[in-house]
Amino acid sequence: MNNLTADDFLNQQQALEDEARELMPWDPKHCTYSLGALKQQVYACRTHGNIGVCYSCSIRCHTSCDIVELFTKRNFTCDCGTERDSRVDPKSKQKMCEIRENREPDVAASDNSYGPNFKGLFCDCAQEYDADSPTVMIQCVMGNECGEDWYHDHCIMGVEADSVSVKPEEMSDADAVTERHLENFPALDSFDAFICWKCVSKYAPYFQKIESSELANDIVSQTVIHGKDDKSVNAEGKRTRDDDTKPYSIFLKKGYQEALGKLSDSIKDNHNKLHIFLTQIAPQLIKDEEEYEPPAEEETILDIISKSLYQSINRAELAAGSSALYKLQSNLKNFLQPFAKNGKVVKEEDIASFFQKPK
Ligand SMILES: [Zn+2]
Ligand SMILES: [Zn+2]
Ligand SMILES: [Zn+2]
Ligand SMILES: [Zn+2]
Ligand SMILES: [Zn+2]
Repeated sequence: MNNLTADDFLNQQQALEDEARELMPWDPKHCTYSLGALKQQVYACRTHGNIGVCYSCSIRCHTSCDIVELFTKRNFTCDCGTERDSRVDPKSKQKMCEIRENREPDVAASDNSYGPNFKGLFCDCAQEYDADSPTVMIQCVMGNECGEDWYHDHCIMGVEADSVSVKPEEMSDADAVTERHLENFPALDSFDAFICWKCVSKYAPYFQKIESSELANDIVSQTVIHGKDDKSVNAEGKRTRDDDTKPYSIFLKKGYQEALGKLSDSIKDNHNKLHIFLTQIAPQLIKDEEEYEPPAEEETILDIISKSLYQSINRAELAAGSSALYKLQSNLKNFLQPFAKNGKVVKEEDIASFFQKPK
């Protein structure tokens, strides 16, 4: 540390801040528990019983836990500080959730659905997510049966990863997505959303009705059979008659929501099963709930400090060494403490006044 110049120090600080901002694009101030079931970013904590917690709690409460990012889940209530969370012993009377500051466990939502994703396992093959793999993963937009699982492209086709060839032209185009493209797998820009074969099979009669409806061409882009079959999809993307019994996934066209809405509206009989399916079982296919986004990160105290450090401090003084900077930082901490205690927002002029004070 002694060999670190003030410039190095500030650069390092900047890099850390940039990294932190990238990882934490939102202000981790609000827990979503009180908002109830939401479509939101969910993080699984494998240290405390594979519970799902909201964005802020993953940062503030389960800070040093083994966290798995699950991306969005619908209809999910944060389980930090509820009866499901083993982070704090209820007898200790400590804060159960650092944000809500409840001293007793809150009631856990009964309709949170906990699937394998919460153990960090994705897809039919139950693998952990590998950020370094070029394999495409797609989330099922319906989710009723699979818990909005994510699938590998080859697993959607029901084949081993190394048994499918990669289209060479996709790889040579430098500007194109660097992801590989499996033969017979729909091009990523040819569809808008995907429904896995598990969800399709569960509600097969309704999907058959949709596929044979007049609006099918506005809804279905392609169907892909799940199973070891080298012609899992024919030229038109339509299944042949003897494929009828095999499970298949549906790739949806852009605008499928409007088309399904139109289809649903065209059914005048409210007791019609397809109407019930579209309006009550899978309404998310017509109009999806908007994803909850935490409030955007306000300028943090750290931002203001580093800006002020750059602007107000005599560079020569900084060059004298980092120990001066450390001293300054601890003074600054003392200066900022009352602000933190009273929950007062620190403004740039407050910091400026600090730097103008004689030392
Ligand atoms: Zn929370
Ligand atoms: Zn935890
Ligand atoms: Zn919390
Ligand atoms: Zn898989
Ligand atoms: Zn599914």
